[in-house]
Amino acid sequence: MPDSPAGIDQERLWSRLSELSKIGKSEGAGVTRLSFTREERAAKDLVASYMREAGLEVREDAIGNLIGRREGRDRDAPIVLAGSHVDSVRNGGDFDGPLGVLGAVEALHTMSERELETERPLEVVAFTDEEGARFSSGMIGSRALAGTLKPEDLQAKDRDGVSIAEAMRACGLDPERIGEAARAAGSVHSYVELHIEQGGILESRALPVGIVTGIAGPAWLRLTLTGEAAHAGTTPMGLRRDALAAAAAVMGRIEREAMRTGTSVGTVGQLELSPGGINIVPGHVSFSLDLRDIDEDIRNDVEARIMHEAMLLCEKRGVSLGTKTLQRLPPAPCSKLVQEAARAACREQGFEPFELASGAGHDGMHLTELCPIGMIFVRSKRGISHNPAEYSSKEDCAAGAAVLYRTLLGLAREI
Ligand SMILES: [Zn+2]
Repeated sequence: MPDSPAGIDQERLWSRLSELSKIGKSEGAGVTRLSFTREERAAKDLVASYMREAGLEVREDAIGNLIGRREGRDRDAPIVLAGSHVDSVRNGGDFDGPLGVLGAVEALHTMSERELETERPLEVVAFTDEEGARFSSGMIGSRALAGTLKPEDLQAKDRDGVSIAEAMRACGLDPERIGEAARAAGSVHSYVELHIEQGGILESRALPVGIVTGIAGPAWLRLTLTGEAAHAGTTPMGLRRDALAAAAAVMGRIEREAMRTGTSVGTVGQLELSPGGINIVPGHVSFSLDLRDIDEDIRNDVEARIMHEAMLLCEKRGVSLGTKTLQRLPPAPCSKLVQEAARAACREQGFEPFELASGAGHDGMHLTELCPIGMIFVRSKRGISHNPAEYSSKEDCAAGAAVLYRTLLGLAREI
C-alpha cells in the first residue's frame, strides 16, 4: 500500500476534517449542525475557504448548496460532480458528510497542485440538509438540484414551528426560486460521493475502501394489531386474544424472512401497546417496520411473505391486523460507468475493488434521474455513525480520497 496515496495530502485532509468537526460540537455530545442554522453557515464558510485554497470558483445555488468548480478544457461539457453534506443529525459524528465534501475538495486541490487538466469541468457540492434532522424531511439540496423538490415540500416544520421556507428566508434565500437550483438534463455527466460505510463490512474484511453497487430503498410500514384486553390472572391462555403475543410472533417472522434473503434488512424500531398494565393482557399493539434491499423485487417479496404470515398468525389468535404504508422508495442502483471508474481507481491505488451495498440513504438516490451515480465507502470503526463515537482513521480517509481522486480523473477524462 502506498504511504501517501496518489499524492493526496493526508495531513491536510485530516486537519480540515478536525477543523470542520469543531463547528457545532459540544463536549461529549458530538456534532449538531442542523440546516439553515448559524452552525451550518459557519461550516459552509469554512468549506468555501478550503475550496478557494484548492483554486475552485465558489458559489451557492438557490437552495443553499455550496458549489466549487474547476474548469475543464471543454467548459460546456457536462460536469462531473462530487460531494456530500455538512449538516449533521443531532449529536452526530465528525465524518458522516464532511468526509465526502472535504475528500472531493482534496481531490481537486491535488489536481490543481499537479496542474492536471481534464476534458470535463469538475464541481464539488456540499448539499443542503441531507440528514433531515431539523425538518424530518431530508435531502433537500439534492432534490432541488435534480429538479424534484416541490414548493409544498418547503412547508415541513421544525420543532419550533418554523417551516423550511421561513428558515430559507432567514438565511437570505428565496423559496420561490428553488427551481433555479435544478440542473438541466444532460448537464451532469456523473455524480460520485465518498462516504463512511456506516456498517461493519469493510472492517470485518480488513479493507479501507469499497465500491458501492447500489443504495437500498426503504419501505416503511405501520402494523396495527387489535385483540382484546383481559385480566392477566383469570383469562386462560387458550381464550386470550393477546395482541402483543401475536405481534411478537409476527416480529419473529420479520427477522426470519429478512435473514432468508441474505441481503434484506428488516427492523421494528417503534412499538406501542395498550392498555400497558402488568396485570392486563395487551389488547392493542402498533409497531413500525423498516424493510430494505437494493433489489426492489426481493424487498417486495420479503414484504409480501411477512404480510401473508402476519395475516395467518393473527387470524389464528383472533387478532385483527391493519397495515399502512408510510413510505416506499425504490432502491437506487449505482451506475456501471462510475463503478468501473472506481474499480480502475482502486486497482491503480493497490486496493482490492471490493463491492458492497449501501443500507443507508444518500443524496445520490435523488440524482439517479439526472445522471449516473456512484459511491465509494471508507471503513468506519464498528460501523458506528450518527453518534459522537463515529470514527474512520486518517489513513483510511486519505485512501478514500485517493480512490475518489483517480475516479474523478477517469470520469472527467484527464488530458
Ligand atoms: Zn451522510
